[in-house]
Parts: sequence; structure tokens; C-alpha cells
Amino acid sequence: MRTAISTLELLEPRSLKHALDVLRSQQPVVPLAGCTDVYVLLNAGTSPASRYLNLWNLDALRGIRLRGGVVSIGALTTFADILRSPMVRARLPMLAAAAREVGAVQIQNRGTLGGNVANGSPAGDSLPVLAAADAIVVLRSALGSRRVPFNGFYTGYRRTVMRSDELIAAIEIPQVTGRQWFRKVGTRAAQAISKVVIAAVRTPRPRIAFGSVAPTVVRVPRTEEVLAGGGSIDDAVAVLSSEIAPIDDVRSTADYRRRVACNLLRQFWTETA
Ligand SMILES: Cc1cc2nc3c(=O)[nH]c(=O)nc-3n(C[C@H](O)[C@H](O)[C@H](O)COP(=O)(O)OP(=O)(O)OC[C@H]3O[C@@H](n4cnc5c(N)ncnc54)[C@H](O)[C@@H]3O)c2cc1C
Repeated sequence: MRTAISTLELLEPRSLKHALDVLRSQQPVVPLAGCTDVYVLLNAGTSPASRYLNLWNLDALRGIRLRGGVVSIGALTTFADILRSPMVRARLPMLAAAAREVGAVQIQNRGTLGGNVANGSPAGDSLPVLAAADAIVVLRSALGSRRVPFNGFYTGYRRTVMRSDELIAAIEIPQVTGRQWFRKVGTRAAQAISKVVIAAVRTPRPRIAFGSVAPTVVRVPRTEEVLAGGGSIDDAVAVLSSEIAPIDDVRSTADYRRRVACNLLRQFWTETA
């Protein structure tokens, strides 16, 4: 490990309130949830931070609840918790499908939904699901809480509207009607970051979101519009091709990603007909 652990400070808050007070008064400090993303940076010696705030024991940020048709998932809920939840499997099969594809069992046991969202990788597997579901991000700080539509949460590559004194407390997912569909295309079935990932809901106004085809997770409103207006899947594919902006990188090429995204759109449309 290239970062010397002995030089780092780990703060252990006694409660959520204590954690929020620390974030308000003792910056700079980096929240830690399952640590699966942060550990990669520490191992590479590229984490700029020296002080960390361990959230793991804050049970107030954990759990899956149903309130008036809205599924509320605490930020510290792991992908294993999500997979084990009969409520998620019944109401949000696309989220269960995404959780099943994150890393492998070890990562699913530690990796949290809040960490996936806060980390903001365009390849994060849960992000297209939350985009297609029109989820809400619940942010808490010592000053209060606010709710931000997931589709307005990211402002650029790994940039969000969250302030440094805020935590993600929960993700709220309103009732989703219509058939849900999720596919991840990666190098292999486990321990692979996506080359392209899609989540979509088949309703008269389809909701379609992609990961790994732009600097942030994206909804594709022009493509959705074609399908909602009764256009053909060929027309929708043509629009999608110009609506996404994939890049060449270590995992894939822009060309491949564009073709796969178009194929996935066709597959979604056929399989949910
Ligand atoms: C081997 C391996 C395989 C992986 N495979 C996948 C994969 O297939 N798909 C995928 O999507 N990801 C994958 N990941 C990435 C990672 O596991 C996920 O992004 C995971 O959800 C991160 O959650 P965490 O709790 O571990 O976050 P952490 O590492 O603890 O934190 C990540 C970031 O989020 C911030 N943060 C965490 N919780 C909060 C909060 N409540 N409020 C505010 N900020 C917060 C932290 O400060 C940090 O910046 C993989 C990682 C590894 C090491």
C-alpha cells in the first residue's frame, strides 16, 4: 500500500449528529462508508486526504423502508443488503439486478449505495437505475436536510451538488410502474467495471438511462421522446447514437460503447414489448 496508514487520522463519530458536527467544524475530512473506493486510492497513493470520518457504525444511515409507496434506502445499505431485501426484489428488480453485478460478494458486503452515488463514477452500476427511477438524494448537514433529484445531482465528471459539510443520508425511490430492465456489459461476469450499463422502464413514456457513455450517468430524453411519440426503434437508435458521448479509455473504445448502447436499446425494446 503506497499510502502510509500511520500518517492518517480516523475519526469515529458517536452518532449521526456528531458526524455532521465534525463535517461542519473540522474540514477537511473525508467520509468513509464501506471504503471499497477509498481503499483503491489509498492503495495507489493517490488519496489527497489525511483525515477520515468513519460512518460505518452509524445505523441511522442504514436500512430499507417503505413509506407511502416510496422505497427509502439508507446510504450505508450495502449491495448485499439490497439483494437480500424481498421489498427491493419485488418493487425494484432493476436495482436488485444492479446490486448482483457490483464487484463480487466481498465488494457487495462492504460497498454501499451511498458510496456508489457519492463516488460518482460514470460506470457506477446503481446510477442508471436511480436515474431511470427518478430517485431523490436526501442530503443531511448540521444545518438541516434537503432533497435533490438524482437527475440533477451530478454537475460533471465526479462532481456533484453535495457540499463538503453534507452527507448522503438516504436515496428515495418513488413507485416505479412499468417493466424494469437492467443490463451491464463488462469484460466478465464479476469484478468488472462496466463498459456500458443501462437501466430502463417500459411505460408509455419510457425512462432510459446509461452509464459509461458520458462524463456522468445520463438519461437520454431525445431517445425517450422518439419512443414515447410512437417512433420506430430504428429512429430511436439513430437519435441515441448522437445523444451519447462515449470515450476511448482503458476499458473500451467510444465506437464499441456506442454500438453496444444501441444494441442494448434494441434489446430493451424487444424484451419488454
Ligand atoms: C474490486 C472492486 C470491484 C468493484 N466493482 C464495482 C462494480 O462492479 N460496480 C460498481 O458500481 N462499483 C464497483 N466498485 C466500486 C465500489 O465498490 C462502489 O462504488 C461502492 O458502492 C462504494 O461504496 P463504499 O461504501 O465502499 O464507498 P467508500 O469507498 O467508503 O466511499 C466512496 C466515496 O463516497 C464518499 N461517501 C461514502 N458514503 C458517503 C455518504 N453517505 N455521504 C457522502 N459521501 C459519502 C466517500 O467520501 C468517498 O469519496 C468496485 C470496487 C472494487 C475495489
